[in-house]
Amino acid sequence: MKKIALFPGSFDPFTNGHLDTIQRGAKLFDEIVIGVFTNTSKQTLFTAEERVELVEKATADLANVRVITQDTDLTVNVAEKIGAKFLLRGIRSVKDYEYEKDIMTMNHHLDSEIETIFLLADAEYSHVSSSLLKEVIFFDGDVKKYLPDVVYQAILRKKKLNEK
Ligand code: ADP
Repeated sequence: MKKIALFPGSFDPFTNGHLDTIQRGAKLFDEIVIGVFTNTSKQTLFTAEERVELVEKATADLANVRVITQDTDLTVNVAEKIGAKFLLRGIRSVKDYEYEKDIMTMNHHLDSEIETIFLLADAEYSHVSSSLLKEVIFFDGDVKKYLPDVVYQAILRKKKLNEK
C-alpha cells in the first residue's frame, strides 16, 4: 500500500523551512500531499488561492509532492479522504513541541488510525517562521535566503500594492 503523508499548514507564506521538511519527507513517504489550510486564529497575507499557487511553484521539481486546499473539514477527515495514514509536521523548538503535542493528541483522539510523524527543523531554519519573516519584510529587512524565490517576489509585489 502506498505510504501517503498529509503535511498541513497555513504556509503564509511558504518558507525554505517548510520546503526543507517536505524535501526530507518526500524521501520517507511515497507521496506527500501539502494541505494549504486555514488556521482560524491567524489572519493571512495571501489568499488560499495565492498560497496554493506559490506552494505548487516552489515544489514543482518534487515528483511525489502535490498540493490541495480546503477550509471546512478536519485535518484527519481530509487525510482519510486522500488515503493518508500519516500527518507530517515540523518541530523547531520546545514551544513547537508543546503546541504540536496537543494537536497530535487531539488528532489521535479523532482518528486513532492516523499517526503524526515529526521532523526536527534543520538548524539553518529553526528560527524561521512565516510570521517573523513577514514582520522583518514589513520593515524592509533582508530575509531572501529564507524564502523560495517565487515566494520572495510575490511578497515584494504584495508589499508594493499595500503601500499604494
Ligand atoms: P500552522 O498554522 O498549521 O502552524 P505553519 O505554516 O506555520 O502552519 O506550519 C506548518 C508546519 O510546518 C508546522 O508543523 C510547523 O511547525 C512547520 N514549520 C514551520 N516553519 C518551519 C521551519 N522553519 N522548519 C521546519 N518546520 C517548520
